[in-house]
Amino acid sequence: MSLNLPLLEIAYLIASVTFVVGLKMMSNPKTARKGNLIGAFGMSVAILATLTLHDHQVPALIYGLILLAILVGTVAGWVTARKVAMTKMPELVSLFNGMGGACAALISLIEYPHMAHETGSMLSVLAGLVIGSVSFSGSMIAYMKLNGTMNKAIRIPAYNIVNTVVMATVLIFAAVMVFVNGFDTTLHVYILLALALIYGILFVIPIGGADMPVVISLLNSFTGLAAAFGGFLYDNKAMLTGGILVGSAGTLLTLVMCKAMNRPLSNVIFGAFGGSSSSAAGGGTEGGTVKDISVPDLAVLMNYSKKVIIVPGYGLAVAQAQHVIHEIEELLESRGVEVKYAIHPVAGRMPGHMNVLLAESNVDYSKLAEMEEINPEFPSTDVVLVVGANDVVNPAAKTDPSSPIFGMPILEVDNAAHVIVNKRSMNAGYAGIDNPLFYDPKTSMLFGDAKSVLTALAAEIKSL
Ligand code: NDP
Repeated sequence: MSLNLPLLEIAYLIASVTFVVGLKMMSNPKTARKGNLIGAFGMSVAILATLTLHDHQVPALIYGLILLAILVGTVAGWVTARKVAMTKMPELVSLFNGMGGACAALISLIEYPHMAHETGSMLSVLAGLVIGSVSFSGSMIAYMKLNGTMNKAIRIPAYNIVNTVVMATVLIFAAVMVFVNGFDTTLHVYILLALALIYGILFVIPIGGADMPVVISLLNSFTGLAAAFGGFLYDNKAMLTGGILVGSAGTLLTLVMCKAMNRPLSNVIFGAFGGSSSSAAGGGTEGGTVKDISVPDLAVLMNYSKKVIIVPGYGLAVAQAQHVIHEIEELLESRGVEVKYAIHPVAGRMPGHMNVLLAESNVDYSKLAEMEEINPEFPSTDVVLVVGANDVVNPAAKTDPSSPIFGMPILEVDNAAHVIVNKRSMNAGYAGIDNPLFYDPKTSMLFGDAKSVLTALAAEIKSL
């Protein structure tokens, strides 16, 4: 063994430790940025060590190509990540995740002809190929659904049966390649690749557009798993640890999201919930009296309150009203009003969406309160201002067993003295259902785009 190899193993160990530490730090908004950088540092150590400490003789041309690929990837990733709007983050994650899956599949394709075709390595290489390909094609469909290229819900007749048949074909074909002599040629591996890509497309196509964040998180865990199989193949500890961490974090996140929405994963995959934009635009037909409030009246009400809780939702992100809501918070605080933000775990369209959005406008983290912590505070609150949130404050989740969101924990804003709901119309939110909160005698609607209405509100409070 050359002297370089122990050094290489140490570098992989350092990288693995940074992945674990970085991931842990990402669980808190205060340390998340640093955690990300620590993980990225570890990955750079692993890449550099692989390039410089490996025993393999690599021709200069190949080195050049690797460096070129790193340069192109770094520039493209950097520029895209800097330019992306927060509301577009799920589609960017989906695109990046798809690239990860493609990498894992390509590794398997490239290594297949050179490896020993014995059961263990065949299983690793084919698992990496299948899972990576499903993740790649599924993520590309998710990306197209999110960016509007594929915005119609596609309903394949008996799609559950079709999907199951294709999945079974993929698994049986892979098993035959591993266990039956003569079925392990390069042609067979390409057929398996095609089948897995088709399965990835069929898997994601019927899923409702609005469920994409959950699906992306699931596909993310697939990519991690595929990378972990690559780690087995190369006996590379950093790849193995990184893959397992991504795989388990993705799985946990998927389950956490499902739990917070009170829906089983099977319902996300087979339910086509919130599938079309028309379903989300529907609702609002329940009837009942709705009263609204003018900006000047609201300014007075808030200005003379003791305690105000702001509930941000998806509409705040759409309107990009995070800066003006922070301005209102500061104005009220300067007048002696206590202001807090109530954060529901699935408010917005991705986990932590509201935290990231509010952090963008420098809202103090200590003002952000999680659902369990803030719910007991609503009864002692004078005004709750709901900005572009709908499902996460829908009391039907507690009171109506026939509601699709029945059982989902909500922010119990209806316990406050006054509830003000800002949205543009009576249209439904993501779940496509009506919201009895809007007809509650305590509730007043403040119709209009969040940014323009809140800008007017800030000006009005200033003038008091
Ligand atoms: P909702 O999607 O329930 O409601 C958002 C509301 O914002 C809409 O009713 C809309 O009403 C309003 N709105 C849209 N644009 C604007 C604007 N410019 N100004 C003012 N209001 C606007 O959002 P919530 O945050 O309450 O709930 C999130 C939903 O997403 C939940 O059902 C959750 O389960 C789901 N989800 C969340 C995920 C996550 O990880 N966070 C992942 C997947 C799904 P109008 O059109 O009338 O303006």
